[in-house]
Amino acid sequence: MHAVQGAGARTTRREDVSLDAIFFDVDDTLFSTSEFAEKARYASCTAMHHAGLKLEPQVLMDELREVVSEFSSNYDHHFDQLLRRLPKRHYKGVNPAIILAAAVIAYHDTKMRELVPYADAVRLLRDLAQLDLVRGIISNGLTVKQAEKLLRLGVYPYLTPTAIYISEQIGINKPNVKLYRRACSDLNLKPSRCVYVGDHPTRDIDPANALGMITVRLRSGGRHDGAPGQTAARHEVRDYEELRAILIEQYGLPLPPTAAASTPAQGAGAAAHSAAAPVPVD
Ligand SMILES: [Mg+2]
Repeated sequence: MHAVQGAGARTTRREDVSLDAIFFDVDDTLFSTSEFAEKARYASCTAMHHAGLKLEPQVLMDELREVVSEFSSNYDHHFDQLLRRLPKRHYKGVNPAIILAAAVIAYHDTKMRELVPYADAVRLLRDLAQLDLVRGIISNGLTVKQAEKLLRLGVYPYLTPTAIYISEQIGINKPNVKLYRRACSDLNLKPSRCVYVGDHPTRDIDPANALGMITVRLRSGGRHDGAPGQTAARHEVRDYEELRAILIEQYGLPLPPTAAASTPAQGAGAAAHSAAAPVPVD
């Protein structure tokens, strides 16, 4: 059993394995889902208020949080439910369709502006794409939404197109280990030669460990950082530069030691579209 390395730990001990693939989770792994959702929802609540809903945006946010927890984050009609559960006197004289449309517009405008990847994730993916290595995705969520995120984040050009696994499309949800097994078996990969990078201890790390993948837990300040899992990740990192160092030093990947020399440094969470290739439109 491998010793778990704490975030930030460095060692030059080489693992006796050569890697064939590296898979990534999407939400809170390639970008800050929590931060984005909070911004988008607040923009929507503010827009509803400006459209004539006479409750303060913060009050609407509290109600919206309840709606999201009651109907799940992937439910498509949060704003309809929010409005439905409020007494009509709060939007007397205003057509509720206008308030709803204002919310939807604000949400999509925020998505256009704010759905940006962790800059160091894009730099690492860009360098990994130069190697003979499968770069894949194993993600929970709705097919169209997750695919949209890969395009909007600008990471799709660096991925292996046949290595994208989205739970709804496959019919298997995390934490079922079958989702991870399907990805490896479809692509004829040995799990022990595949890395899996995720932020969630029980949805990402435990099942990938159960399959024998090399697990990397990203703890970059996201909402699941403190959550316990059944098993420990093989590696823990705070950012993608730490992961880069592990891939070089312990797995012998011929990556540049840092992308900083070729790309201007950008903070985690900063817009990295300038560093990413254009999104294909076909
Ligand atoms: Mg995640």
